[in-house]
Amino acid sequence: MKCPRCGEDSVDYGVISFQLGKTRAINVDVRVCSKCNLVFFERTEKKPGFR
Ligand SMILES: [Zn+2]
Repeated sequence: MKCPRCGEDSVDYGVISFQLGKTRAINVDVRVCSKCNLVFFERTEKKPGFR
């Protein structure tokens, strides 16, 4: 996935479970831009875990 700020390729940090409320949680892919170090999230169906 490309960085939303500068369009550079991002590095995959891992997937975390993100709590939306008392009963709902989604999995999000944590990514960091290799150029500007912007941290951003992308919703995913992958299982939580760090690489
Ligand atoms: Zn960037």
